[in-house]
Amino acid sequence: MSNSIFEAATAQLDKALKHYQIDAEAALRLRTPKSALQVSVPVRMDDGSLRVFQGYRVRYNDLLGPTKGGIRFHPGVTIDEVTSLAFWMTFKCAVVGIPYGGGKGGVTVNPKELSLLEIERLSRGYMSAIADFIGPSRDIPAPDVYTNSMIMGWMVDEYSNIKREFVPSIITGKPIALGGSQGREDATGRGGFYVLEAAKERLGLGSKPLTIAVQGFGNVGYFFAYLAAKAGHKVVAVSDSKGAIYSKEGLDPESCRRVKQEQKELKAAYCTGSVCEIVEHDKLTNEELLELEVDVLVPAALENVINKDNADKIKAKVIVELANGPTTPEADEILAKKGIPVVPDILANAGGVTVSYFEWVQNRNGYYWRESKVHERLKEIMDRATLEVLDLRDQYETDLRTCAYISALKRIDQAVQAKGTLRYFAARR
Ligand code: GLU
Repeated sequence: MSNSIFEAATAQLDKALKHYQIDAEAALRLRTPKSALQVSVPVRMDDGSLRVFQGYRVRYNDLLGPTKGGIRFHPGVTIDEVTSLAFWMTFKCAVVGIPYGGGKGGVTVNPKELSLLEIERLSRGYMSAIADFIGPSRDIPAPDVYTNSMIMGWMVDEYSNIKREFVPSIITGKPIALGGSQGREDATGRGGFYVLEAAKERLGLGSKPLTIAVQGFGNVGYFFAYLAAKAGHKVVAVSDSKGAIYSKEGLDPESCRRVKQEQKELKAAYCTGSVCEIVEHDKLTNEELLELEVDVLVPAALENVINKDNADKIKAKVIVELANGPTTPEADEILAKKGIPVVPDILANAGGVTVSYFEWVQNRNGYYWRESKVHERLKEIMDRATLEVLDLRDQYETDLRTCAYISALKRIDQAVQAKGTLRYFAARR
């Protein structure tokens, strides 16, 4: 098996195509990216020196609408990774039925080593380098790993400077003050929480409070943990790149985040009155967290963390993928044999892009919605998509990932047919 993430991603598609055949021409068009751009981004560093960063933007497929997907700033970014992420975005948007194709961008950089001013120069430089490749009706970026609303704010400003007019619909996940949507910040975690709530009984988890372990405590992992704990579930472990903490009694995600922000380290603290006390907890490694005996395991960081080396040791009853691509195809097979359902990334983490869609709609209308409206519409979409995938599971008697791909393929196939294929024209001659 090669190390290519893209090969592993397309293996998921191949598996779905065995269960659900689409027009051969549509299948052919799903195998390769529509277009890919590589850019060099020169950045003046604070000490006066110049560094040149490599950046990418891939428009994977636009059969259902303009391409959509985030921008990642991470030292591990490669064209292989960005292409795979753009591929997953194609199917993610189709699963939830929003009118987008899939795209993605990234810069190979460790933003933790850069000052805020250097990150601003990099963000503006990258946007300027890709400005002619993207567009509000062509390709719309958003945040991803290690990028956030502040960075989206700099990018929309840079794009608007280039175009000499304010173009809020060029990018989503913006600060509210620059045309961002209410409810975008927590949308991915919230969407994952809605999916878990909608699916838990049909996945054999019952309706009682669940024990949950969350690997990755960035924006997505935190908001998921926060909402799950608020709903009465017990979040027993959380981790970041430096390690994990565990408490049988359950952790308070809000206090973990506060301490992490203050001390740059994951610890559990609870405030009673004005006195903050550190609650007893064990330290674990990320690997140990993945192997905990919990009801729900939530990978919420990077790709390939559940692989052939550890899949057999997973003891969770259900996995909910909030990261993109956390489970390799070999691990999928092992988990299926063990009877552990995996709620796939392209469904479980689609809440982010769904609220990005709401943001884009609001920008194009110039009319903004209340937060409660965003939550209500997000829930409606996540519930419907989850039930669709669960129904396909009953129909096809196969794993949830394959069913999510089938659900996406149905929509993509219809669009290809409607644009005209050999079969389409032959049937109408
Ligand atoms: N980066 C997020 C994802 O992987 C959000 C993409 C978007 O909002 O366009 O789904």
